[in-house]
Order: sequence, then structure tokens, then C-alpha cells
Amino acid sequence: MADRADRLSDLVAEAGLDSLLVAELTNLRYISGFAGSNGACLIGPDTRTFFTDFRYTERAAEEVEGFEVEIVSGDWLAGLAGFFEGKVGFEDDHLTVRTALKLEDSASESAELIHSGGLVESLRRVKEPGEIERIATAAELTDSLYHEVMERGLTDRTEAEIGAFVVARMREVGGEPSFPPIVASGPNGASPHAEPGPRVVGKRELVTIDMGATLDGYCSDCTRTFATGMLEAMANESYEVTLAANEAGLKAVQPGAVASDVDAAARDLIEDAGYGEYFGHGLGHGVGLEVHEGPRLGARSKDVLATMEVVTVEPGIYISGFTGVRIEDLVVVGEEGIARNLSSVSKALTYID
Ligand code: ZN
Ligand code: ZN
Repeated sequence: MADRADRLSDLVAEAGLDSLLVAELTNLRYISGFAGSNGACLIGPDTRTFFTDFRYTERAAEEVEGFEVEIVSGDWLAGLAGFFEGKVGFEDDHLTVRTALKLEDSASESAELIHSGGLVESLRRVKEPGEIERIATAAELTDSLYHEVMERGLTDRTEAEIGAFVVARMREVGGEPSFPPIVASGPNGASPHAEPGPRVVGKRELVTIDMGATLDGYCSDCTRTFATGMLEAMANESYEVTLAANEAGLKAVQPGAVASDVDAAARDLIEDAGYGEYFGHGLGHGVGLEVHEGPRLGARSKDVLATMEVVTVEPGIYISGFTGVRIEDLVVVGEEGIARNLSSVSKALTYID
């Protein structure tokens, strides 16, 4: 934690700020260790102040190290603003306009608020070994649930029942879904964010299951698409093309690679196969304390990949009214290429009744 605060403090100085107010709770947890629901910290080369209210006095004492802890009583924002001096950055990508104005009003005249979003997020992109282990553990849980889902079978169950089973099993081992699982069968698969519904999974169709677990604060994310019997030629081909695009995307994951080039490696393959119009989303995203974080892998993303980032590679083909496929792996960017693929469930088209 102290190391993270030091690295952030370097970024704060580089940005020409005296301090940065970190109030977004995931960023706050990353920087200070505090996992409660009300807190903030002010951090800079000469400042390490952590703020919370009386409800969290004990929790802050347990979790927060390396900060002076201030218990704010009375007006929360005025309490924080009372500590502002010089150029104070704030997370303009998280704070509401109303909150920012209130902070500005409450601060002394010697303080100036500066829009400074994304600093903590840029640190969070590159994981520490301990973070990667936690993401890997969350990914293992997800993989074991895929095997359970396969053993139970898919046909004659509703999508909602399969989704509820997954969520219940995650909770039994102390996890939480990192997002509501997607179970999309047959034509429902054509919607990338389909919610599991009352549709009963039939025979000879594709079923896309996208799920992730949060364990110990860290998320996983994986998608597999299964077949419930022999498929029509176009569904079969969609699967094979998506799988080839997934593999091309994985090969393009390299430290120093520009995200749009990684996206293009998979997208070009889908376009060349004649399915370009059916792949309407970006190739992937970073995963960590949040299931969607930096870097973004997409056609317009200028993010450059770095060693020890954890990203998904998830091409898909979605044909309205017919079917859909997505295959998503979660990987660790290594020194050259991928250091680890955290998604171990087979990607060969698997038939499940
Ligand atoms: Zn996913
Ligand atoms: Zn994803």
C-alpha cells in the first residue's frame, strides 16, 4: 500500500498538483486499503491524509496505513475542503458537478481545484504479483463453475435457472458475481449483453455463458459458447471464425502493442471471413478490482499494453434473429506475449446436452 501511495504521489507531482483528492471508493481501496463505504484521502508529496466518519473509526485504524486519519464530523465535503491547499486535483470522472462545486465553495481562497481524473486508474492497470494471484483465484472459481454447468447439462433448463445456479454456487464459496452472468441461448445469443430469461435452452443451438467472480476484492471474467447438438453450417462457421479471432487477438497481446492494433488482429480475421458487420464491440478490457477497467482494447483505443496488465480478449459474432458466439479469455501480459492465460476451460466447440 505504501508503495502505491508513493507511486501516486509521484504522478501527482508530475501533474503539477500539490495533492489529489481520492474519493472514488475502488481507487480509495487501492491506495489506502480502506474497504468501507465512506472515506476519501488527500495525497501528494507532502500530504497523506485519510478522511472518514465516526462509523469507520475502528475500520480505518485496522485497514489504513501510512496516512494521518481525520474523523470528519458535521458536513463531510466542508470537512474535506478545509484541508485543501494549493493546487488540489479531483477525480472529475467520478465526482458529480454538484460535489465539485460544493468543494470549491467550501475551500479556502488559497486552494484551486483542478480536473485530474484517471491518475489512480493508470496505476491500477499494472498489477502486482499478489493482485494477479487473486485474479487467478477468481478465474479458477469461474472455470470450476463452467465444469459444473457442463456436468449438469443445458437443454431443458431456462437461461434464468442456469444463471441463478452460477450465482448461488459463487456465493457458497464466499464470492460474488463480478457482474450478473449472461446466459444467452439460440437467437438470444445475438445480443452481447442478453439477460438470462425464461427461454428454455433447446437442442442444436449455441449457448453463450459469460460470467465472472469477485473474490477478495478482485474480479474475473470469462465467456464460453457451447453447442447443444449438431449445428447449422453458419452457426458452426461463426464459432470457428470467432475462435480463430480469439487466437489471433491473443497472439497480438504484447507489451508495447497499441490496443487498436490488438483489436484489429482479431477484427480483420472476422471481416475477412465475411462476418465483420456482426462484431460490434471492442475486443477486450482490463480486469482487476473492477471487472471493466483500463486498458481498453478497441478500434479507437490508443492505450499501449504493458507487462503485468490483465486483459480480456473476447471477440464475438452476433447474427440478429439467428445466433451468437463469444469466446473470452483473461490473460496476463508478459515480457513477450502472454505470460499466463487464466481461462482454462477448453475452447474447442463442446457439445453438451
Ligand atoms: Zn465477460
Ligand atoms: Zn469481458
